[in-house]
Amino acid sequence: MAILFKNVTAVLMDPAHTVLEGAYVAVEGRTIDSVGVTRPAGSFDREIDGRGGILMPGLVNAHTHVPMTAMRGYGDGHNLQDWLNDFIFPVESRWDDRAVAACTSLGLMEMIASGTTCIADMYMRTGVIAQAAADAGISANLSCGGVFFGEDFSPAVCVDCANETELADRWHGHDHGRIQIDASLHAEYTSKPGLWEWTADFAKSRGLGMHVHISETKREHEECRARWGNTPIQTLAKYGVFDVRAIAAHCVWTEPEDWAVMAEKGISAVHNPVSNLKLGSGVAPIPDLRKAGVNVALGTDGVSSNNATDLFADLKIAAILQNGVRCDPLALNAWDALEMATVNGARALGRNTGVIEAGRDADLILLDAEAPNLTPCHDAANNLAYAAHGGNVILNMCRGKVIYENGEFRTIDAEKVRREVLDYAVPVLFGRN
Ligand SMILES: [Zn+2]
Repeated sequence: MAILFKNVTAVLMDPAHTVLEGAYVAVEGRTIDSVGVTRPAGSFDREIDGRGGILMPGLVNAHTHVPMTAMRGYGDGHNLQDWLNDFIFPVESRWDDRAVAACTSLGLMEMIASGTTCIADMYMRTGVIAQAAADAGISANLSCGGVFFGEDFSPAVCVDCANETELADRWHGHDHGRIQIDASLHAEYTSKPGLWEWTADFAKSRGLGMHVHISETKREHEECRARWGNTPIQTLAKYGVFDVRAIAAHCVWTEPEDWAVMAEKGISAVHNPVSNLKLGSGVAPIPDLRKAGVNVALGTDGVSSNNATDLFADLKIAAILQNGVRCDPLALNAWDALEMATVNGARALGRNTGVIEAGRDADLILLDAEAPNLTPCHDAANNLAYAAHGGNVILNMCRGKVIYENGEFRTIDAEKVRREVLDYAVPVLFGRN
């Protein structure tokens, strides 16, 4: 299908920070075909008049746990360890596939409606998540967050080894690579060297990326040092965990030597500012990571610690947080934050998206720039980073297919999902209606 966006303000997210007024962006099949200020030749199946709108690359949510929408607002007001042990883990023990499917679809609806076209997820029952993401039309790097607490590791006794193998066999590369599987460790403190070695080999032999939680809390970081004499990044790096494309979620307590390892190995950091602030985990050293040459992407983390998946909200916090804590209004600017949410996220996930240019995946979102909160527009980047919210998104196109437009979901039955969550998943998980 050929689609033409016309008369639109296009924020390309190229290195030159180009903003094209009165732009034409042509889409052919799954791919952006041309970008310019004159009408391209040829005929189109659909022409979308974007007058009064801003077109930008779809957002990349580079670290999330989609099914946790079920825990929105549950157990708030505790530190990370208490919150996990007393609230989250007991609820998670009651998941079944049907509840995961319902809560995943709900999370994807929220993301799609607020402009996300691509995610990196880490959770359990990942095959169910893969089916929901495949059906929703969104691009997803999915992983199951491998854990191992026992003493004598062998792949035969580690459930997650079987899970990851099955997942990669079934889903990696699905629909022309729209669904990809990443190898994954939940974290250093929830696994053992045997699993680290197995996961590193598994990723290398299957050509998969890697997704790990790193140095989210001070306690986690320091306990790793006490256990292994080194930081989580450097400990896992010694086992080859980061010898493939890798994303390290959080990195709040990482140190200069960690940044050097990350830059050298090409490990992307995923900044989750709202989650880190809410759980009191700290403020990640984003300007230092960037200065050290580390690619920094942006994520919401799970809804249970955010409590939303509107990435525009995280984008704004990311853009202003460093300025505040460093008393430096230039510590991070609007373009820096927008890059984290788009092109840097694409790089982190190994995706051909995040920029509006010919040959890239046609992952595009259209915002209503005539909304009160985006009026007037002296500078499109400033409006997008500091003033926009997900509710300004009026169209979401993922890989050339419009999956959301003017409040309507094209791939998800919104009312059915809502009913499934409230009538089935919530009673199963919380034992109440
Ligand atoms: Zn997380």
